[in-house]
Amino acid sequence: MKKLFALLLSVTMLFALAACGEDNGGGASSGRTPADITESGVLKVGVKTDVPGFGLLNTADNTYSGIEIDLANKIAAELGVDKVEFTPVTAATRGQLLDSGDIDMVAATFTISEERKQSWNFTTPYYTDAVSLLVKKDSGIENIADLADKIIGVSTGSTSMKALTEAAAEENVTLTDANFSELATYPEIKAALDAGRVDAFCVDGSILAGYVDDTNHILESVRFSPQEYGIATKKDNTEWAEYLDNLITGWLEDGTMAQIIADNGVVASFEE
Ligand code: GLU
Repeated sequence: MKKLFALLLSVTMLFALAACGEDNGGGASSGRTPADITESGVLKVGVKTDVPGFGLLNTADNTYSGIEIDLANKIAAELGVDKVEFTPVTAATRGQLLDSGDIDMVAATFTISEERKQSWNFTTPYYTDAVSLLVKKDSGIENIADLADKIIGVSTGSTSMKALTEAAAEENVTLTDANFSELATYPEIKAALDAGRVDAFCVDGSILAGYVDDTNHILESVRFSPQEYGIATKKDNTEWAEYLDNLITGWLEDGTMAQIIADNGVVASFEE
């Protein structure tokens, strides 16, 4: 009787394990391998919806365009996959969506940093941007020194607050937590700028470009803290990370990457 019970228990556990695997799209908990993705016929990619030239959603026909969309489509072609499923992400959500296995990769202005490399794998950078500031034209703000008594809007989970604090310190300007307002999304920061709740909007120039209008401008001469964008994947999925890195390095070497950047009307990478 005991033996039968033990047998039943192990069979149940085997089924439970198999079901866990299925929840992750057929792979182990570390995420899907290139072969898993090819077999499934769908590549799941986290992208931005509001970054012109990188990841922009055209709400009229629900289509995406930009460098990161072209990269995702090219990767799908390499895998022999017909369908790319795009999921909108923000700086605050993209890491969690990778960890949960909802998406296979993030191509969303995701800056590579030593700290982030502890949590996710990143490919070799495909583009380098710089952090900048968007201010109202009548604000009188021209440079970092003008920010000492101001409130700056930054997004949750982004590199912006640290980058600006360090750039200010180099100019002997001290910015503290009281100088920052952290909001979850860029539309919220833009609304805060328009309402006068923040005096400046700080993030990568590529992202600010999506929020320029007649009343504001980007401080073109204020560009600091190079932001190297890499495609991010789940930390323990080394096979997938290596597959993607090989593609990106190949495309950087053979000029494909430069062509994708030019095709999207984006200026070449940031140079200090
Ligand atoms: N690229 C910066 C970062 O990764 C800005 C935030 C964003 O990408 O939305 O933190």
